[in-house]
Amino acid sequence: MIIGSHVSFGSKGLLGSVKEAIGYGANTFMFYTGAPQNTLRKPIDMESTKEAWQLMKDNHIDINTVICHAPYIVNLANNLDEKKYDFSINFLIQEIKRCEEMGIKYIVLHPGSSVGIERNIAIDNIVYALNMILKQDNSVMILLETMAGKGTEVGCTLEEIAYIINHIEKKELIGVCIDTCHLNDAGYDMANFDLFLQEFDSKIGIHYIKCVHVNDSKNILGAHKDRHANVGYGLIGFDNLLKVINHDKLKDVPKILETPYIGDSDDDKKRLYPPYKFEIEMIKKGIFNSNMMNDIRGYYKK
Ligand code: FE
Ligand code: FE
Ligand code: ZN
Repeated sequence: MIIGSHVSFGSKGLLGSVKEAIGYGANTFMFYTGAPQNTLRKPIDMESTKEAWQLMKDNHIDINTVICHAPYIVNLANNLDEKKYDFSINFLIQEIKRCEEMGIKYIVLHPGSSVGIERNIAIDNIVYALNMILKQDNSVMILLETMAGKGTEVGCTLEEIAYIINHIEKKELIGVCIDTCHLNDAGYDMANFDLFLQEFDSKIGIHYIKCVHVNDSKNILGAHKDRHANVGYGLIGFDNLLKVINHDKLKDVPKILETPYIGDSDDDKKRLYPPYKFEIEMIKKGIFNSNMMNDIRGYYKK
């Protein structure tokens, strides 16, 4: 099982991410190269990056499974503001260079939101931008994330994802990241995952799936909301998520948790605790822990 969570990058860069992942008992992880909601980035510190590589080796984390996530304000779908559109393209080119410097193979991208333009034009903007980005000489694969369809989000149907992929020139550098919460919210029933995979395979091709975001959902099938829940604590449920994680056809694909941090109503400092160590434990055991929230608070409160 290749499993981890999203971790911070922050001031310590990749080294900080690796340490955090190890603390969760993970054997892979996903990170943003800076705050996900902005595009301020520092140059990569190669000294600590090399330390991170060594630490990964020592802890059996295969760097080829590690995922970077592009900031979600990057929007390749809308070109009404040409400056913003060009900025998004150039930012992603830079971000991919940073991944290359760190030896990271995959970057997950939200396809974009159409905001005020026709959906099919928005999708063609994405295609144009991706082809521009992939024209640069690099080896990092862009993974299109399946979206919930919140607001004017594009990429919430397999048809839209298929259309984008079909129009990419360098197909060896494009893949898909499926997100179980987003799929549920988009109307794909995770209780019938085999059927979903069949549909995915016929419309896109299962080999395009390079990452799975494992999240439960706070909302019902087709809600178009995108609110993640802790594993087993949402409307997809533990057993259904476990089947996705352990699916034979996806066994070499990294699974990444992006579930919410846990709060404590008694805590006047309003601290939030990461659930990942406990979710990973529960997933490895294959048994739902109905006392997980208390276990997490107990563990971090000390
Ligand atoms: Fe995402
Ligand atoms: Fe996701
Ligand atoms: Zn989400």
